[in-house]
Amino acid sequence: MSPFPRPDYAPLEPYEPGRTPVEVDLSDNTNLWGPHPAARRLLENPPSDLFTRYPSPYAADLKAAVARRFGVGTENVTTGCGSDDLLDSAFRAATVPPGTLVHLEPTFSVVGAFARMNGLETRAVPWAQAAQDPASLVAGNPAVLYLCRPDNPTGLLLPRGWVHELLDLVGPAGPVVVLDEAYADFAGESFASQAPAFPRLLVVRTLSKLYGLAGLRVGYAVGAPELVREVEKSRGPYKVGRLAEAAAVLALKDEEGWGEEILALTVENRERLEDELRRRGLRPLPSRANFLLVPVAPRNARSLHNALKVRGVAVRPFPALPGVGEALRVTVGPWPLMERFLQALDEALGDDVTQEGREATGRRFP
Ligand SMILES: *Cc1c(COP(=O)(O)O)cnc(C)c1O
Repeated sequence: MSPFPRPDYAPLEPYEPGRTPVEVDLSDNTNLWGPHPAARRLLENPPSDLFTRYPSPYAADLKAAVARRFGVGTENVTTGCGSDDLLDSAFRAATVPPGTLVHLEPTFSVVGAFARMNGLETRAVPWAQAAQDPASLVAGNPAVLYLCRPDNPTGLLLPRGWVHELLDLVGPAGPVVVLDEAYADFAGESFASQAPAFPRLLVVRTLSKLYGLAGLRVGYAVGAPELVREVEKSRGPYKVGRLAEAAAVLALKDEEGWGEEILALTVENRERLEDELRRRGLRPLPSRANFLLVPVAPRNARSLHNALKVRGVAVRPFPALPGVGEALRVTVGPWPLMERFLQALDEALGDDVTQEGREATGRRFP
């Protein structure tokens, strides 16, 4: 008799982001300026076949749009129900369980759950160690290396040269390297165009952040054809709905240059918010994404989060984040929302920010 429920699923819980409706929600890094306008126009009056007909099994139109955008072939592209679906499918495709997934610490928190769902154990390598010694990531021949660039929740950008060094170590037969570029649009640089040249590199991206389409659930990935094909086998057909696909294609084309505008506004407001936080004695980590990670020690991240929440502002608390400590992650958005956050923060911290609060530090990736 095979056991049910699966014993290896015992530590898993259904995902609970701890979100309750709040006036100003800066907790999930979605686009606070709104959805891509071309996608929005389409969804105001969509043709009826977008409802009644099945999509193509592997989202052919979306593949073509991604291929055009990055100058790669359609055989280099796969798609999914959000980029989460691609992480899941890639982890599943990478090996017959048991196996190991290696990730840096801290990084995107749901990766551990996706690993376990697919029968993979995880091994966390501290950022500082990974920086000194990339070979420590491939030690023990893991099935998957997961990297997030720019990283969530730190906002740090792994140096390009470091990634190349790692890809050299991996070679054509090492672990599958899943490079999560959910925030690469904000960093203005990417490995997507080059991914096909690296047999074990899958670059995973999303329409959920810069393009403002998180509710539609569209993601894609770029890699060598042999790798992409295996991921598609594990993903299965019909994962991207027709409405979502059509909207995503328009957003990726970005004929009006809306994406560039949002990017510029995000960078401007991120720098401005960083200045404001520094004036308050806080030291956010240097971010290349659309959020700031703000160490708040010796204050407690959760209680500060609660104090903001009663004032109508939600951020994401990270208690005892390895290498960082108590921290809040704040999504960057239109300036009036940032002002609301700063006002709530001032109240929450008390008017008299003590020197203690000013000692908050964050480790910087060398
Ligand atoms: C938001 C996020 C995702 C998930 O994106 P979806 O495409 O909405 O599934 C993936 N990776 C990271 C690091 C993220 O922050």
